[in-house]
Amino acid sequence: MELDGARVLVTGGSRGIGACLARAYAAAGAQVVVVARSGDDLRAVAAEVGGVAHVADLADAEVVDGLIAAIEEAHGPVDVLVSNAGIETVDPVATVAPDQVRTATRVNLEAPMVLTRRVLPGMLGRNRGALVFTSSLAGTAGFPGMGPYCATKAGLNNFASTLRIELKGTPIRTTLVAPGPVDTRMWDAVEAASPSVQRTSTRFKRLLLIPKISPERLAGRVVAATAAGRRHVRHPRRLTLNFWLGEAPRRITELALAGVRIDPLDRLD
Ligand code: NAP
Repeated sequence: MELDGARVLVTGGSRGIGACLARAYAAAGAQVVVVARSGDDLRAVAAEVGGVAHVADLADAEVVDGLIAAIEEAHGPVDVLVSNAGIETVDPVATVAPDQVRTATRVNLEAPMVLTRRVLPGMLGRNRGALVFTSSLAGTAGFPGMGPYCATKAGLNNFASTLRIELKGTPIRTTLVAPGPVDTRMWDAVEAASPSVQRTSTRFKRLLLIPKISPERLAGRVVAATAAGRRHVRHPRRLTLNFWLGEAPRRITELALAGVRIDPLDRLD
């Protein structure tokens, strides 16, 4: 996908990975629209990258439903949708607040799926587009204290894998981003969480399995992958086997469906 002049919508663009993604896409020549709740931070990022800020709460189903139409009406077609906004959950399943479970599910999983549903027909009509999802290493397995978060990220992985099959034969590409720890507010919040989460993190660190990556470096890799139409951005590389073991059933499904005609616009009114 040619990023120079492309319109890129980055959710969760007010800070952390999303703000770095906004800068990296803008540096590649894209016109960036950033979405999040914190208006001041969001406007500062938009001003820095010569882009547009759109304040929205992605936990609100009605807002999510109308977001693509509102942005496309005001600014033109979205060429790249980067579903990056997310929130952590850091308590065991027996103690996590039910409201937090619902909000994490809405922001991390429901919003990316509905935004994709809304943006995809236009992309298919224009024969141009890319879909980027910020998943996580936490989507490859269950980690104690992070059950709902892990579940949303695993859901995102299978959603992206479905899209890859449905969009085979079209120019629309998907990129699934699955990092371990990234040096942002979210990782600080995970590390400051319950003693069980801290003990888990200490064990993984001792095993040298979770080196941190900077959000700037990760964003650079994501933008390069979007430009090249690459399916995955994974970190750390030392956990490649983990990622591939998770990927195996998806590849087997793709292989089993080779030659089957799939129409991504079946039953569109
Ligand atoms: P972060 O610094 O906490 O940023 C999260 C972003 O999501 C913020 O821009 C936040 O903006 C936005 N957001 C949260 N709730 C929202 C809502 N209801 N509506 C709209 N926007 C909302 O965390 P980060 O590390 O950059 O995380 C970005 C993505 O990377 C997430 O999907 C996360 O799961 C994933 N990830 C992070 C790590 C890590 O270690 N940091 C590792 C793997 C994957 P507002 O608060 O302004 O709304």
